[in-house]
Amino acid sequence: THDSMTADTTTTATCGYCATGCGLRLHLKDGEAVGLTPETTYPVNLGMACPKGWEALRVLDSPERATQPLLRDPNGKLSSIPWDDAFTTFCDRMKKVQAEHGTESVAFLSTGQIASEEMAFLGALARFGMGMRHCDGNTRQCMATAVTAYKESFGFDAPPYTYDDFEQSDCLVFIGANPCIGHPIMWERVLRNPNNPEIIVIDPRRTETAAAATQHLQVRPKNDLALLYAITNELIARDFVDHDFVQNHTQGFEALQQHVAQFDLATVCEQAGLAVEDVSHAVEAIGRGRAVSLWWTMGVNQSYQGTRTAQAIINIALITGNIGRPGTGANSITGQCNAMGSRLWSNTTNLFGHHSFSDEADRNKVAEALQIPVEQIPTTSSWKYDRIIEGIRNGEIKGLWVVATNPAHSWIDQEDVRELFAKLDFLVVQDMYETTETCSHADLILPSAGWGEKEGTFINSERRYGLLKKVRHAPGQALADFQIFRGIAHRWGLGEMFADWSSPEAVFQIMQRASRDQPCDISGIQGYEQLDRCGGIQWPWSADHASGGFEPEQQRRLFADGQFFHDDNRARLIVDEITPMPEPADAHYPVVLLTGRGTVSQWHTQTRTRQSPLLRSLYPNQPYVEMHPRDAAELDVEHGDLVRVRSRRGHADVTACLTHSVQPGQAFMPMHYECTNRLTLSHFDPHSGQPSYKDCAVRIDPVLTS
Ligand code: SF4
Repeated sequence: THDSMTADTTTTATCGYCATGCGLRLHLKDGEAVGLTPETTYPVNLGMACPKGWEALRVLDSPERATQPLLRDPNGKLSSIPWDDAFTTFCDRMKKVQAEHGTESVAFLSTGQIASEEMAFLGALARFGMGMRHCDGNTRQCMATAVTAYKESFGFDAPPYTYDDFEQSDCLVFIGANPCIGHPIMWERVLRNPNNPEIIVIDPRRTETAAAATQHLQVRPKNDLALLYAITNELIARDFVDHDFVQNHTQGFEALQQHVAQFDLATVCEQAGLAVEDVSHAVEAIGRGRAVSLWWTMGVNQSYQGTRTAQAIINIALITGNIGRPGTGANSITGQCNAMGSRLWSNTTNLFGHHSFSDEADRNKVAEALQIPVEQIPTTSSWKYDRIIEGIRNGEIKGLWVVATNPAHSWIDQEDVRELFAKLDFLVVQDMYETTETCSHADLILPSAGWGEKEGTFINSERRYGLLKKVRHAPGQALADFQIFRGIAHRWGLGEMFADWSSPEAVFQIMQRASRDQPCDISGIQGYEQLDRCGGIQWPWSADHASGGFEPEQQRRLFADGQFFHDDNRARLIVDEITPMPEPADAHYPVVLLTGRGTVSQWHTQTRTRQSPLLRSLYPNQPYVEMHPRDAAELDVEHGDLVRVRSRRGHADVTACLTHSVQPGQAFMPMHYECTNRLTLSHFDPHSGQPSYKDCAVRIDPVLTS
C-alpha cells in the first residue's frame, strides 16, 4: 500500500489512458482517491487534461468490473472460484496443454496498458520460466511500424523528441495524425506555440486537426508514400538539403536521390488528387523552416507500407537537418499509456530492455542482470501477433493467455478471430472488466486491478518514465497484474526464480541493471522517489548522465550530437518500391473504408470509456459511418438513415453520417464500435507485421425499413 493511502492528502500520478502521459493530481480522503485535477506543475500537461483523464476515477466504479476469478464449466456457465483455485487451474491446464502439444503450444497476448514492471514480469515469467515461445502485445496493432522504422533508420527504437518541440517548431507536419482528438494535450501545446507556425496536415480526411491547420493536403488514401517521395524529390531539386548533415551523419543519400527522382510532382499530385501549387507550398514551408518537426501516428503505422512510409518521413527530417535541435524531429506519437514500456520490456520481439535474442552477448548480459542461467533465454524472437493467430488456426497454439486487451473486438477481420478462439483448449483472460468481447470466449477470467489501484511506471511518447500510484483499493478480489504474475510464478514452481521480484520497485531495479549501456539506459534513476520528485524522467538517464551536469527535470531530445545508434553512428536513408493497394475499390465494392479514432472521449474498444456516463454523453452510442453527401445522394440516403456497410468479410448496419470530412468514394468508421472490424481486411505491413486497418473496399446500401 502506498503511503498516501493512509491520509487526507494529494499526490500526483501519470494518467493511464494515452501515451501523452499527463500528470493527474489525486485528492485523497481517508486514504482513498475521491477526485482529481490536472497537475499544474507536471512538465507534460502543464495543468491540462482531456475528458478521459478527468473521468479516470469514475470508470473504476462500474458493475462491469471483474471482482472475482471466474471459471467456465462444460455447460458454458461461469462460476466464481477462489484465487488459490484460479492459480492452480491456470497452471494445471496450461501445463496439460504443453504436455499434450509441446511447450510452445501456449502463448500470450498482452498490452500497452499495464505497468513496465508488470510487462517485464510477464515476459520473463512466460519466456524464461514457463517455456512460452510465442507472445505479442496489442502494441503490434499500433506501434510496431514505428519501432521497425526507427530501428532500421536510427539503429534503435528511439523517438527523438520532447513535447517542448510542439512549441518550438516554426513548421509542423502531421501525417496520418489527428492530435486534436487523438492526443488533445499535445495539440494544446501546439496551440501554445508562439512562432505562428505553419501547420501542414497530410490526411485523406478533413479531420479536426486538418480543419485547424494552415494547410491540408487531402491526399487520396494510400498515396502518402508517393507524396512523401515527391516532396523529398522537390526538396532535393530546390536544394533545401543540409549537405553537411547528410555527409557527416547519414548513409544512402545517392540511392535516395535516385529513387525519388522517379516521383515527378505533377504526376504524383494528379494520382493523389492534389494541386501542384499546394504541395509546392508545403515543400517551401518545409525547406525554408528553421525548425521543422514531422509527426505521425496510425494513418502511417496502420498501413500495408507503414514502415517505408514512416521512413520516408524520417528521410525528410534527416536530409533537411531537422533532427536533434529544438522544434525538429521525425516523431512517431505513441498510442497507449505504456506502449513505450511494451516496446522496451515486454520480452516479445526484443529481449528484455531492447536487447537482441539472437545476440549471445546480449543474452549473457540479461541473464546476469536477472541472475538466471543463460540457457533459459530463447535465442529467437517470438512470432508476431498475426502468426500467433495463424498458429491457433492450424493447431500449433492450443493455450492462450490474454492480458488487458480485447482482440475479439480489436483484431483485424474479427469474425475470423472469434471463430479461432473456439479452437483453443484453454483461453485465459486477465482484465479489469468481465464484459469484454474476449471475456465472453474465456475459460478462465482473472480479475485485475486498474490504473489508480496499483503501482509501477508508464513510459510516455517522449520517453518519460512516469509513476503510477495506488490511490484506492481494487474492488472485490481483483489483484494487481503484478500480484497475479507472482501468484502464477509461485504455483508454476518458479517461486525461487522470481524471489527477488517482490515488488514493482524491486523489478524496476532489475530493469535498471538490464538497461545499462543500452540507448535506453535508466541506471541513473534513483528509484521511484526521484521519478515522483522530478515529474518523471526521460530515458536515457544513465549513471553517467546523473553525474554529467544534467538535471533530471531537463527536457532532452536525442541526436543533438548527430550520433545515431548504428555502428558507424550514421542514420540510414531507406526507400522502397511502392506496392498497390491490396484491396482497391471496384465495381462491387466501390468505396474505400478508413477506420480510426472517433472522438476525444472514446478509447479503443470502449472497455473503459463506456463506464463513464459523462464520456458516453460526449459521443454517439450507436455505430455510424461517415460518407460524402454526393455518395449518399446517389444511394438516396439521408443523414441519420440506417445503411449496411458490407465488405468481403462481413457487414455492419450503422447510421449514415453525411459529412464533407471524407471525400467522394471514401467512408470512415470509428474503431470503437464492435462492428467495424467485421469489415477490415487481414493484411499487414511486411516489415513490422502491423495490421493495415486503413484501407479495405466496401459497398454501402440503404437498409429499407418498413
Ligand atoms: Fe490522459 Fe491522454 Fe487525456 Fe492526458 S491526453 S489526460 S494522458 S487520456
